[in-house]
Amino acid sequence: MKQVDILIIGFGVAGLSATVAAHKRGQRVAVFDADQPYTSSRSAGAIINPITGRKYNLSWKVEEVISASTAYYSELEAFTGNTIFKKQPIYRELHTIEAENNWAAKHDTYQELGYVQNMFAQKPANINSNAANWIEIQGGGQVSYSAYRHAVTKLIYQGGHTYKKDEFDYSLLHTENGWWYYGKDIATKKVIFCEGSNCINNRFIPKDIIEHGKGESLIGYFVNEESEMFDPEFPILKKDKFLVPMGAGWYWVGSTLDFEDASDEPTSQGKEILENAVKEMTGFRFIIKVHLAGKRPTTYDRRPILGELPNYKNLFILNGLGTKGFSLAPWCAEKLLDKMVVPNAAEIDKEISINRFVNTSA
Ligand SMILES: Cc1cc2nc3c(=O)[nH]c(=O)nc-3n(C[C@H](O)[C@H](O)[C@H](O)COP(=O)(O)OP(=O)(O)OC[C@H]3O[C@@H](n4cnc5c(N)ncnc54)[C@H](O)[C@@H]3O)c2cc1C
Repeated sequence: MKQVDILIIGFGVAGLSATVAAHKRGQRVAVFDADQPYTSSRSAGAIINPITGRKYNLSWKVEEVISASTAYYSELEAFTGNTIFKKQPIYRELHTIEAENNWAAKHDTYQELGYVQNMFAQKPANINSNAANWIEIQGGGQVSYSAYRHAVTKLIYQGGHTYKKDEFDYSLLHTENGWWYYGKDIATKKVIFCEGSNCINNRFIPKDIIEHGKGESLIGYFVNEESEMFDPEFPILKKDKFLVPMGAGWYWVGSTLDFEDASDEPTSQGKEILENAVKEMTGFRFIIKVHLAGKRPTTYDRRPILGELPNYKNLFILNGLGTKGFSLAPWCAEKLLDKMVVPNAAEIDKEISINRFVNTSA
């Protein structure tokens, strides 16, 4: 039987970040991942964006979360030599007078914080737009999920940890004498559940704490009749949907949001919405090579969920990353692992703790 300090279930951004945080604290880890084809992390645009939404609000805890996550990705880059986080400006169309007014009210504050320079920016080349004005947001960019996963996989093998490409069978997890056992294969002191929206199948996690915001996306490239290159220096762009350059002429387009559709797979309706959006954005033809779908693991208050599960000593959760998993996961994992292994560590903030789902009125 293999003995480890921490067993991690799920290897999306939550599981990757938990693995790195555990490794940094000298913990021996085993990871299980079912390698599901349609997961949130695989289908994401992986954008880190300091200013979001229709009202141009600052992302929650923007300074702390974004500086922690970008520093984290560059530290990992040194380990593999591959770029994981690419700083990129984000261009947004100000499509209505209301949007212009919302923007104008906040611009000065954002300029002071360093997220914008000028009030307005020029429309990027090759983009169709009737809007009088655009804006350029600084301080964000894009994470390469494949480069991130590659780096953590390397860390697993070089650090003497264990990775199992397998569906975790919850019926095999039981506790005895302060240890948790996975059948006869693994003995561990602690477990972290990082299954994203698939946590509904986990009998240890309270029901209904995660809502599923299904999203679809496309990956492809542009052509036109003259075989001209679509601008390779293109920034991240947001009109109705996001258009994100992935390098070497490839682009990600996304995404849709559907709280009703419980299926995992991409749909023809999703594809049509995204195809129409990209057609409307540029004069170029978009050749679709990949159509993806995933369910964003979202909470009622749009905050992550961290901590020890009620009623189960040494079983922990890292979930609820919603629409911002790529900035939140590394920051959350640091907080969770401190609480799990560092003596006298600070309590997990109430705002993100699993305890906010525990009914204390009974
Ligand atoms: C279309 C779309 C676009 C998005 N764009 C962005 C964006 O631009 N920026 C951003 O920050 N966020 C974005 N998000 C949100 C982001 O993707 C999520 O917050 C994040 O990926 C959640 O990560 P996770 O690790 O919790 O879950 P997941 O990515 O779903 O990973 C869960 C993992 O657990 C494994 N698993 C599940 N059950 C089991 C089991 N029983 N046994 C073993 N393994 C199991 C799965 O195989 C999977 O690898 C987007 C999401 C979608 C859907």
